[in-house]
Amino acid sequence: MERGHESCHTTLTNFSDFDRCCMKRALALAWRGIGKTSPNPMVGAVIARDGRIIGEGWHRRYGGKHAEAEALGAGPAAGGTLYCTLEPCCFTAPDKHQPPCAELVIKSGIRRAVIAGIDPFGRVNGAGIAMLREAGIVVETGLCAEAEAELNRGYHTMQRQGRPFVHLKIAQSLDGRIAAPEGASTKVAAGDRWITDTAARKIVHRMRAEYDAVLVGRGTVLADDPELTVRLVRGQNPLRVILDSRLGLSDGAKVLGLPDREKTVVVCDQAAPDRIAKLRGMGVEVICLPGLPLGAVLDALGARGVRSVLVEGGSRIFSSFLREGLWDRITVFIAPIILGDGVSAVSGLGIGTIRDALRLGNVSFRRVGDQLLFEGNHVYGNC
Ligand code: ZN
Repeated sequence: MERGHESCHTTLTNFSDFDRCCMKRALALAWRGIGKTSPNPMVGAVIARDGRIIGEGWHRRYGGKHAEAEALGAGPAAGGTLYCTLEPCCFTAPDKHQPPCAELVIKSGIRRAVIAGIDPFGRVNGAGIAMLREAGIVVETGLCAEAEAELNRGYHTMQRQGRPFVHLKIAQSLDGRIAAPEGASTKVAAGDRWITDTAARKIVHRMRAEYDAVLVGRGTVLADDPELTVRLVRGQNPLRVILDSRLGLSDGAKVLGLPDREKTVVVCDQAAPDRIAKLRGMGVEVICLPGLPLGAVLDALGARGVRSVLVEGGSRIFSSFLREGLWDRITVFIAPIILGDGVSAVSGLGIGTIRDALRLGNVSFRRVGDQLLFEGNHVYGNC
């Protein structure tokens, strides 16, 4: 990792407008793989020569051709420049489906390579760049590095922190309530069905399509009976994860009866074997984790190739992730309604003074209809 950071900073040069344009194109291509490449990263590549783009490619799905190979497949690239959003891979392994891209790049006669992000994966992490340089290719890094870090935030978090990227999504009233006093959740609000309106929920569906998994607690399933699928926009359904310590979910819950129910995972603490067998018989995956520690839940998801998790509630789940520091980003939709009483979005964090408050970094605000969309990131010590 350190090597990656170093080379990123030491080779920052003055890039031309054409360089920027090509890298932006490569990033746009990379985004096309959203929801389909995990546990691999999304990658885009562009090949240019004489001020013209002559090849393009992206990693379309896990196990598929790598972006560089696709772009090089477009025709002779000798003497050209490769723009790649992530450092080309440089190793072979029994479980790796594709040949090392660095070798393909060298064979193609590419003269210069511009790379946005360093691949933090242990067997690459600067070695791909070193391989290109040893072959005489001019390599420049760091162009649009932040955009690449955002694109692959799940992949990078997994490599650096050993767990998926965790994003909490909260829909609340102006006074921080996610459910009315009677406990009937977000459905009871201002004469409407939800705290937030369709425009906000469309954004949530887009977020779901960008994440490998969505996670909720049993209480949210009982109160809202959500499908946790992508319906209001086009996109892939993420894995649906429900934390239900005693498997008290009703068999009639929508999330257990969806056509793609192999994408529903229920994580329990301990439960009667016949209950587990019943759920498995319905086609739902059941994982038992004694004590249901969130770190172990994230490990289990990571082992299934999940690199990013969108946490959609409820209060106890949000509070647990915050208390344990297992989060990276929070998005809060704030609706112009006041409930006065009801369920707080978060509680019981054990914070006694303002000084100890969790303070978010890199914050942004946006208006969505008559709601406010607030977003902020976890600030890690001294980073
Ligand atoms: Zn590759």
